Amino acid sequence: MLQKTSHFLREANYIDGAWVSADSEAVIDVTNPANGQRLGGVPKSGRAETKRAIDAAQKAFQTFSKTTANERAQILRRLHDLILENQDALAELLVLEQGKPLAEAKGEVGMSAAYVLWFAEEGRRIYGDTVPSPWADRRILVTKEPVGVIGAITPWNFPSSMLARKIGPAIAAGCTVVAKPASQTPYSGLAWGVLAEEAGIPAGVVNIITGSASEIGNELCENPLVRKITFTGSTDVGKIMIKKCADTVKKVSMELGGNAPFIVFDDADLDRAVEGAIAAKYRNSGQTCVCTNRFFVQAGIYDRFVERMVEETKRLKVGSGLEEGTQQGPLIDGDAVEKVEAFIKDATSKGGKVEAGGKRHELGGSFFEPTVISQATPDMDFMQDEIFGPVAPIFRFDTEEEGVAMANDTAFGLACYFYTSDLGRSFRVMEGLKYGLVGVNEGIITTVEAPFGGLKESGLGKEGGHQGIEDYLDTKYVCIGGL
Ligand code: ADP
Repeated sequence: MLQKTSHFLREANYIDGAWVSADSEAVIDVTNPANGQRLGGVPKSGRAETKRAIDAAQKAFQTFSKTTANERAQILRRLHDLILENQDALAELLVLEQGKPLAEAKGEVGMSAAYVLWFAEEGRRIYGDTVPSPWADRRILVTKEPVGVIGAITPWNFPSSMLARKIGPAIAAGCTVVAKPASQTPYSGLAWGVLAEEAGIPAGVVNIITGSASEIGNELCENPLVRKITFTGSTDVGKIMIKKCADTVKKVSMELGGNAPFIVFDDADLDRAVEGAIAAKYRNSGQTCVCTNRFFVQAGIYDRFVERMVEETKRLKVGSGLEEGTQQGPLIDGDAVEKVEAFIKDATSKGGKVEAGGKRHELGGSFFEPTVISQATPDMDFMQDEIFGPVAPIFRFDTEEEGVAMANDTAFGLACYFYTSDLGRSFRVMEGLKYGLVGVNEGIITTVEAPFGGLKESGLGKEGGHQGIEDYLDTKYVCIGGL
């Protein structure tokens, strides 16, 4: 382990600018998914610690919300620089607890820095309005104010950058944060405490606590001092949180599950489509909410596409994320492997054909072979449910209308991709797909400059883009009379 990496490996909560233990001595064990070895243990906090963190955030909000946009931008720029200076160490920490290839981890940490810088810039442009008044003796102002304390809950698949998308806009807007990282990957979350400390962020502005998801989640959702919950995770948990937030009428931002379709039309550039397909399917071993869940390929190009996908899939190098050249790390844990196996079993029992992979990898543990399944049909489980693993089911369709209808036949609406060289079709299909993110002849499209967020049961609100700061702001209308 790099010396710098151990510097970021903390096993205490970061509350009110101090590293503190939880009330009980119980810990949550953290495991390296590449070899099953225990990395350490982080505090198992509950309601009491969460409440203290919220109180600290509320206290800090009183002064932090009064700082100027420029002061907050300077803080964020320092944070950005620190992340980049420590990119290698933060990436190594991420690989150790999450498993993704080091190159992807470095990319994720780079994205974290990019989000922080983006919001440093956006925070200086939180403009209000002056509106033409219908009254001669009154004026209308519309101002924007930080909403207050933010509760942030993040998943294990992007343990660094999902926090960046929440902490970045929160600080830019003048809000304070209590964040709970996923229990599988708490170290990259706690590392934000180290970064906050070293960037000179005032005590109480950023608080990170680890522990029981339901206890911390419940306190964050129910405590009236928290004015907004921002959550990235499964649709099931998102729905629970939306309901819990109803009692105190909090703002909610939800980045939930996806079921991304990837449509390849007969007129697509095959090489480009295959390249995009491999990237959109196998990044992070298929464990991202924008990873392709279903390939829909038009009949005229179907066999050629399957053949090329099989070729490229078999070429992927599976191994520990820290080994040079690894393209596919392990899945996060044994449960994830069992889920993937169940999808494959269901598909083959209904006529699906395993063209590549299909079983646990010989490396053992939670390694799984990148898998291609042809002859996929809509009665198979992955038509509706997120695989979250390295399995590429390929469906066949005939007409454009049929392809779009199959793609839309889901409760989700996060990312989708399609490949065609026909301009008219590009517009028709882009407009027909009920998704928040559309890649046209591109398989990887996330960037800090663009709004990321799903439609339907994939979520509420946007992260990134100039829209990404809106959810952290309240709009106030002021009428000035008696002029
Ligand atoms: P995933 O399937 O990606 O692990 P989850 O929705 O289970 O997604 O988890 C995402 C985050 O939500 C994690 O930090 C997890 O600990 C947290 N979480 C899980 N269950 C709850 C809950 N009932 N209330 C609040 N947070 C929860």
